[in-house]
Amino acid sequence: MSQIRKDYILDRWVIVSKGRMNRPYEFKHKQQKHQGTDFFAPGNEGLTPPEIGRIPKKGGWLMRWFPNKFPVVNDKRGLNIDTPMLIGETVKGEHEIIAETDSDKQLHELPVEHISQLLKIYASRIAELSREWSYVSVFKNHGPQAGTSIVHSHSQVVAIDRTPPEILELANKSVVKGECKFCEILKTESKTKRRIGTAKTAVAFAPYASRYHYEAVIFPKRHVKSILEYTEEEYIDTALLIKKIIGKLGGAGISYNMYLNYAPKGKNLHFHITFTPREATFAGFELSTGIIVNSVPPEDAAAWYRE
Ligand SMILES: [Zn+2]
Repeated sequence: MSQIRKDYILDRWVIVSKGRMNRPYEFKHKQQKHQGTDFFAPGNEGLTPPEIGRIPKKGGWLMRWFPNKFPVVNDKRGLNIDTPMLIGETVKGEHEIIAETDSDKQLHELPVEHISQLLKIYASRIAELSREWSYVSVFKNHGPQAGTSIVHSHSQVVAIDRTPPEILELANKSVVKGECKFCEILKTESKTKRRIGTAKTAVAFAPYASRYHYEAVIFPKRHVKSILEYTEEEYIDTALLIKKIIGKLGGAGISYNMYLNYAPKGKNLHFHITFTPREATFAGFELSTGIIVNSVPPEDAAAWYRE
């Protein structure tokens, strides 16, 4: 039986159609291995653009960040729009890499405290880049189907000169007359079959209208607009839930993206982190209608995470 479901906030629809059950072990990939040079490893610092910052540790570093050699945006390259009826202009920004560890471990194999420390680096990069740019996207691509070209565990930060329309829409529609819909949603979902896990200050669940197999979100229980407002306890609790989610995904060899959603400048949006595992491919129906078909019901996805 198929069901069509609307996103909590956006006018975005998903058909949940429990088809051939895609059990994670059926699409398990081989663990990626470095081939040739590990550009982000200790000893190869000279192979990256000049460092922006690091967390030092005895004899080296624990994490370090630097500009991306192949940025999606930069403040130099321009693009000429030569046809008057078309809308477009030069987009400016900065693109950074955060090498998450000096080891060859992946993030899901590192301790909760390490993940918490990475979240603090995210916060500091957002704080710094927000001084100059309108919006700072923070994300992680893990595995070949999520767009990773380098195996060494890393996150990316892209600052751009405008706020993405979908983020604005999410902010404008989720907080109406000072009332946050997500505050209510997270309270409800943490008790449904879609719950994944709960910590004292944060909850994780599979979104009702998940677009991706095993999609997951983490919300702090407290309404904060950004990770910059996090307390020590919120950092640890969120890291704990991240570890639970990416531990399952990473352990099953599933590629995923993880990204932060937060309030753009002057707007209100309940901060959260989204996980989009990338096993399913959007095909003709999705592309022709904009409606996504998801063959793994979020209720089953949540049960898998809770196992
Ligand atoms: Zn809220």
